[in-house]
Amino acid sequence: MAHCCSDIEHDSLAKSVEEARASILAASPALIDTEIRHLGDALGRVLAEDLLAAQPVPAWPNSAMDGYALRSADGEGPRRLIGHCFAGHPFTDPIGPGECVRIMTGAVVPEGADSVLIQELAEIKDKQIIPRQHPQAGANIRQAGEDLQAGALALQAGTLLHPAQLALLAGLGIAEVKLFRRLRVAFFSTGDELRPLGSTLAAGQIYDSNRYALQGMLQRLGCEIYDLGRIEDDPKRLEAALQQAAGMADLVISTGGVSVGDADYIAELLGSMGSIHFWKINMKPGRPLAFGKLGAATFFGLPGNPVSTMVTFYQFVRPCILKRMGSHAPWTAPVLKLPLAHPLKKKPGRTDFQRGVLVSGEKGLEVAGVGQQASHIMSGLAHADCLIILAAEADGAPAGSLVEVQLLEGLV
Ligand code: AMP
Ligand code: MG
Repeated sequence: MAHCCSDIEHDSLAKSVEEARASILAASPALIDTEIRHLGDALGRVLAEDLLAAQPVPAWPNSAMDGYALRSADGEGPRRLIGHCFAGHPFTDPIGPGECVRIMTGAVVPEGADSVLIQELAEIKDKQIIPRQHPQAGANIRQAGEDLQAGALALQAGTLLHPAQLALLAGLGIAEVKLFRRLRVAFFSTGDELRPLGSTLAAGQIYDSNRYALQGMLQRLGCEIYDLGRIEDDPKRLEAALQQAAGMADLVISTGGVSVGDADYIAELLGSMGSIHFWKINMKPGRPLAFGKLGAATFFGLPGNPVSTMVTFYQFVRPCILKRMGSHAPWTAPVLKLPLAHPLKKKPGRTDFQRGVLVSGEKGLEVAGVGQQASHIMSGLAHADCLIILAAEADGAPAGSLVEVQLLEGLV
């Protein structure tokens, strides 16, 4: 398992994207700590309990339309209007033969009525309603329990709570929910050349982009974030940063310094301080990547180029975080198949994650590359809305061929 740093030059150690992801997921245990929170604070969090419907939803048969509640058996004969009911204001007497009640959407269907005649099909004459067609039994009625039967599983433990899930739970009257605690993630960037925003750059210096990308991606995943700043390419300082990060977080991410350059210390440090699982992935962008354990924390050493940082985060760190925060599978972003708007070039050997945009073609949705694909071209990723995945052995893809696409915007 622990690869010594002398192995660093050997490409035979490179893993495929799938192998790497499988190893990462296998070494990523879900959190067990839970906490109770109000539903209003649960967006983006993971449910830690199965939740059942304590009562049927809807609880009562109610009208799907504005119209008249009546008895189907009375056919097309006139009905005497004996009252009205609104949502929240039921009509409490039973409906007898030849009678009807004015009813609004969401109002409880009164006892005795088995059909709602929509108002467009009702003629009103002298306080009488004459149907223009035979009202069918059950028409325009939402039956009790149609959405959820009493006792049915509403949501499973491991569900990531988006707005629709919050609305479902609110509909059941559930005010407090048991959630997995938030995953604590500490991160820092490495590089003597990095400067903070607001500073003036000397020759060779650049602004630190990666921490802003990481902060955004981690915030969307609902993590508790610890930004440890920029660390110089100095083994002592890097070791101290790794130690500090591992002491405070469930997951630690560094960017840069993970390759085999003279100022790249991350893999070596990880080898001596913790354990390294592997460090090369057969993909483009983002070949050098360290994954391992630092004490109890999961560690990712992501490559320094911002495009590589983000692409490797989406392929490996995001699935790991989703699993660790207690979310159930699938942890990998969904892959669509879309036709290519134009040919794409590629050399055989590594899996490509080219930056793309969805375009509306003659036959429907297509995908196009954003142009320059080098891993330092951040404007390409900033204008992309998807990644186009080209298999390792492929040597390009012709126009019109179906390619695998991962949407970037749908990703939490
Ligand atoms: P490294 O992996 O440290 O060799 O870095 C690879 C490339 O990414 C170099 O050109 C670095 O200057 C650049 N880079 C590293 N970290 C960052 C960062 N935080 N923001 C922007 N560029 C970076
Ligand atoms: Mg560096």
